[in-house]
Order: sequence, then C-alpha cells, then structure tokens
Amino acid sequence: MRILSGIQPSGRLHLGNYFGMMKPAIEMQAEGEAYLFIADYHALTSVSDPAALRQATRDVAVDFLACGLDPERTVFFRQSDVPQVTELTWLLSVVTPMGLLERCHSYKDKIARGISPNHGLFAYPVLMAADILAYQSDVVPVGRDQKQHVEVTRDIAIKFNGQFGEVFKVPDVSIREEVAVVPGIDGQKMSKSYDNHIELFGDEKDTRARIMRIVTDSKPLEAPKKPESCNVFALYRLFAGDEQIEQMAADYCRGGYGYGSAKKALFDAMWGALEPFRRKRAELCRDSDYVESVLRRGADRAGAEADKTLKKARRAVGLD
Ligand code: ATP
Ligand code: MG
Repeated sequence: MRILSGIQPSGRLHLGNYFGMMKPAIEMQAEGEAYLFIADYHALTSVSDPAALRQATRDVAVDFLACGLDPERTVFFRQSDVPQVTELTWLLSVVTPMGLLERCHSYKDKIARGISPNHGLFAYPVLMAADILAYQSDVVPVGRDQKQHVEVTRDIAIKFNGQFGEVFKVPDVSIREEVAVVPGIDGQKMSKSYDNHIELFGDEKDTRARIMRIVTDSKPLEAPKKPESCNVFALYRLFAGDEQIEQMAADYCRGGYGYGSAKKALFDAMWGALEPFRRKRAELCRDSDYVESVLRRGADRAGAEADKTLKKARRAVGLD
C-alpha cells in the first residue's frame, strides 16, 4: 500500500499540521510504503519571499525528522525536485472542469479571508492531483480541510482514465475523525496563513503568550463551563492522558475553574509532550548536510516513480 502526503512550507508548522497530518503520516510508516513531500510549488501560491521559502522548506524537513519521520522507510522529498509533476498537472488540467475547482472550499475560504487569489491558488487542486497520481498512491491521509481536494483528485483520475484508458490509480482519502480540524487561537481552523496558529516548535514565551490569547466565552471563574465547545479543552485533549482529560472536563462542569488555569494546564501538557522532539530538532539543526542528503535521496526515488507515470500519461494522450 502506498501512502502519500504533502505539506506546504508556507510558514512554521503548527499543532493542526501535527495532529491532522504529521502524526498520522509518521504512524502510517509502519503500514505501507510512505511518500511524503514538502510542497514548495504549492507554497508559491502564497509565499513571495524567496529567502522565506528556502528557510521554511528547511524548517519543515527538520521538523518532520525531529517528530519521528524515518527516511529509510519513507520517501521524503521536496516537491520541486520532481518537476515532472508540473507537466502532469497540465495533462490533468485539460480534463478538469472549471466548475470542479470553483466549488473548492479552501479557495473560497482564502478569498473570504481577503487573500487576493492568483491562478496558482485556483489551480492548486490540480497540482495536488498530479502529486497524488504521479506516485500511484493508494491512500492520502489529510485533515478534514483537505478532504474535498482528494475528492477532486479522484474525479480527475476517473475522468482521465475514462477518456484515455487506465493510467492512474484512484486514491482513497483517510481522515482521523478525532482530530479532523484542530482549532486555532481564534476558534477557526488553525492555519499557517491565518496567523491563528500555535507553532509546534515556537519558543517558550511566544507559545505561552499565544495560548493565553485563545478565544473563550466570557463566563466568570465561578460559573460551570462547557468543555465540548471550548477551544482550550479541544487542544488540551490532544496532549493529555485520559485521566487528565476527564479531570479537566469535571473541573469545567463543576465551576470555580477558570480559563486561565486551563490554559496553563494546556501549556504544561504541550510543552512536556514536545520536549523529546525539541531535543532531536536541536541536534538536526546542527547537521544540515544530513538533512539535505535525505531530501536528495528521496527525490531520486520519487523521480523514478513519477517518470514511469508521466510516460504512460504522455503516451495515453498522444504526445508520444
Ligand atoms: P496554509 O494556511 O498555507 O494552507 P495549512 O496550515 O492549512 O497552511 P497545509 O500545508 O495546507 O497547512 O496542510 C498540511 C496538512 O495539515 C494537510 O494534511 C491538512 O489537512 C493538515 N492541516 C492543516 N491545518 C489543520 C488543522 N487545523 N487541523 C487538522 N489538520 C490540519
Ligand atoms: Mg491549508
């Protein structure tokens, strides 16, 4: 079984990325052949500073290795090191109905946030389809926000196969329901580009400050509170053990327990849980040659697969 996932170097990785995608991808290494790429072509739809893109790409590589990605098991690479996907994107573009892209929530949400769209942002799902289909992936583990994009990929693959013959495997989407959407400090989906995120590897002071800014209702200390609708509780349960979670839920319902205390407990649980990753990360930061060599080797392996698919697709449409 081939499992594919990608992540944009569009900023520092955050808790939503970790629980929605990194952790499942790292755990799935044991279940099949994992392909994981740093989506730098995709990031260009929102990042226009070359130095920032380079830095974020390096950071994503280091963050994944620090969190337990095993480069022996996983083919780990930079998207742009396999430029074959851009040619495949074109071959897919010509079978992609406009309406399919116009319906994409992610695009509509970004516009609603005031992001002025370029054509790349609109065509983002087609490039994503090319990534998934180039490696003949079976399963794509993503957060709920990306479910529709994987469905678009399936539609495009079915359309292409119907028109030109069986070239692509039609992939399945896999979503962890318990962490489908991790909320940001404003209660919306946590996103790198919404400035509502809590970084996975932020410094202590900043992390604490951002946790303190998490939006809650304005119930006074003594009032009973609802754990299920609280953003602080939603984040706490990702880090805490079952007993701790039950304890906090009981404290909320009883009253006399304030959001300040819950935020402090969240910080402590998060900071402690990420400590081993921080240590590993510090080591990796001192060895950039190693990180680069991992990505080069991954690109060679991924490139060989993409070549095979592209050859089939070119022949199918009549280019060869
Ligand atoms: P951007 O704001 O630039 O779109 P992002 O933070 O949404 O960045 P992506 O690179 O688009 O991150 O997504 C990487 C992976 O992380 C995807 O699988 C996505 O589903 C997952 N993910 C992103 N945000 C969340 C979230 N808040 N909860 C759960 N999963 C998430
Ligand atoms: Mg996103």
